[in-house]
Amino acid sequence: MTLLAVQNLGKSFGGVVAARDVAFTLERGEMLALIGPNGAGKSTVFNMIGGQLRPDHGAILLDGQAITAASPQARFRKGVGRTFQVAQTFLSMTVVENVQMALVSCHREAQGLWKPTREHYRGQALELLALMGMADAADRSCSALAYGDVKRVELAIALAGGPKLLLMDEPTAGMAPRERAALMDLTSSIAASRQIGVLFTEHDMDVVFGHAARVLVLLRGEIIAAGSPDEIRQNPRVRQAYLGD
Ligand code: ADP
Ligand code: MG
Repeated sequence: MTLLAVQNLGKSFGGVVAARDVAFTLERGEMLALIGPNGAGKSTVFNMIGGQLRPDHGAILLDGQAITAASPQARFRKGVGRTFQVAQTFLSMTVVENVQMALVSCHREAQGLWKPTREHYRGQALELLALMGMADAADRSCSALAYGDVKRVELAIALAGGPKLLLMDEPTAGMAPRERAALMDLTSSIAASRQIGVLFTEHDMDVVFGHAARVLVLLRGEIIAAGSPDEIRQNPRVRQAYLGD
């Protein structure tokens, strides 16, 4: 069954149409890129799927079940994970504590004192960090990490909820080109091995075309093209409107 189905989504801010009848689907294990110039409506679409924004109309289905009106927390429990453009880690805590906290907060039965509860999840947190290549940094303070490493911790936090769907709005913003490709390589391999559907946006077209199975092009709130990286690269409308022909 289709993992995510977005139907006829619309959102306006005053007179600005940020999303106009946006519709697409995403399968398990698929890497789908949503690209478009600044102001095209990408974050608006991410926020409607994540539950941070309520659409004016349309529907969002996860595994065939409508989540259009669910809170972000309810979506998280149903398997929608996300990372943010500005990394949201607690700098005063260690790397592993950040991941432990994410594990605690997504297990509703985990109540009681923070310290013993947290210790229960240390092993699982270390496994997630090992997956990110961050095991060595487990006991360092998050504030001491390089920016690219903070992004990896953020990905570990997003994976702590065991998501079916991962939303990544500009996951590599502020990273050096080589780090960007590395983070997306890691994301691709996790998506494939855990069969997680990933919707991401990214400015670096080499990264987009190198990692997405399919690409959606958004322009002024409308999807003007959808297809494989090759189809998108060759699409005259996309070249003219966006890729700078
Ligand atoms: P992108 O992420 O592609 O850069 P956004 O989704 O952030 O685009 O923005 C799409 C359009 O909606 C822009 O014109 C932006 O100014 C407008 N917009 C986005 N969020 C808001 C908001 N909270 N209030 C008013 N206008 C907004
Ligand atoms: Mg944005």
